[in-house]
Amino acid sequence: MKTREVRRIVVAPPKKHAIVVAAVCTILLSVALAGRSPNQTANAASVPAVEPASPAPPAVTAAPPSPPPTLPTPSDFTAPVKSGDNLAKIFDRHGFHPRDLHLVVHSGPHGRRLASIMPGHEFDFAADDEGNLQHLTYRPDRLQSLEFRRIGDRFEATETVRQPDHERVYRAGRIQADQSLFTTCMDLGLSDAFAIRLAELFQWDIDFVHDVRPGNEFHVLYEERRVDGEFIGYGEILVAEFVTRRRSHRAVRYVGVDGVASYYAPEGSTMRKRFVRTPLDARVSSPFNLNRVHPLWKRVMPHRGIDYAAPTGTPVKATGDGKVVTRSRTGPNGNYVVIQHGERYQTKYLHLARFARNLKEGQSVAQGQVIGFVGATGWATGPHLHYEFLVDGVHKNPSTVGLPEAEPIPDALREDFLATTTPLLDDLQARKDSDQIAFQTTRP
Ligand SMILES: [Zn+2]
Repeated sequence: MKTREVRRIVVAPPKKHAIVVAAVCTILLSVALAGRSPNQTANAASVPAVEPASPAPPAVTAAPPSPPPTLPTPSDFTAPVKSGDNLAKIFDRHGFHPRDLHLVVHSGPHGRRLASIMPGHEFDFAADDEGNLQHLTYRPDRLQSLEFRRIGDRFEATETVRQPDHERVYRAGRIQADQSLFTTCMDLGLSDAFAIRLAELFQWDIDFVHDVRPGNEFHVLYEERRVDGEFIGYGEILVAEFVTRRRSHRAVRYVGVDGVASYYAPEGSTMRKRFVRTPLDARVSSPFNLNRVHPLWKRVMPHRGIDYAAPTGTPVKATGDGKVVTRSRTGPNGNYVVIQHGERYQTKYLHLARFARNLKEGQSVAQGQVIGFVGATGWATGPHLHYEFLVDGVHKNPSTVGLPEAEPIPDALREDFLATTTPLLDDLQARKDSDQIAFQTTRP
């Protein structure tokens, strides 16, 4: 019942963007409801660096050395792409000759990109006194522009890509009654995608449905990407803290020698665990219980795993990196998969409707990878996943077993790790300290 209540809260946040919220919540259910989505999990732990974390380098320009010819003609103007437009329509609308269109489009690979223009993109036109196109600039977004310059009877194209500025921003929120992390983020003007990224950082430690209470706080230092001062998107989350009643969790970003960014606790243990707690987003229908009376056979038969009730076809994900040692079918198990994780750990997934396509014995799988789909094959009263977790061949309760951590920062990198992350943690703390005043005055 509690689960349902929380679900309602998550699903019924403020009025305005009902549709967005509904969509968000669908995603959220995977992150928040289950608390952890193994698929996103894998990504969260080792987010490839999308862009440099350090201050943005100066704008890199592939522009030609000479400036475009200035054409002081009355025909210089900007034309936005409208719904249903193609380049021919735009040329026609502004009175350009189809021959100019032909020359531009056939000016090489850049010309071909004009076939995929979308509403919102922009063109700048410049023509000579006879109305012949001389110069065309195409801007698909704030960062890219393609310039086509007439040289005799052809057009030469160059591309310019600007680098956005990265501005460091601090935000903090306190969860109010009847609010979730996600609605709180929305109230702060942070996007749902940002809220999900924030939740993913802590997904191995915090169950965002059951552990999160009113009064819990988060503090985050992240980058905003800006062009000419205008926000164009979120950059990396540099450091974040989530404070529950019991403790404070902090995660700081660090890019390893392989160029891959991961999040670590301040002392260098990784946020990521070798296993996520659950192989799918669903409710427990039958817990681990060594004295259970079996529903089909009506006698005491230990239940050495956990059953998750979920609709047929729900994806089942590997809870840790490992190797598929069994992909088979038996009368009791139905379709089932066994994954070996290193020497000591094994996980089992039973009653699958079907296996993931191309899943083979001997194959390596990554944490979060879909290995099959929920079904009711074998001894099952309805569609569910039976999940087992074995340590040294002994069945453990998957919901309480201590999960081993992934690799911490290696000794060789520790010095660099501390040199990089300490200033971030200090910056967060400093902003947090000055923010406490704001918290107290604006939020009783
Ligand atoms: Zn079971």
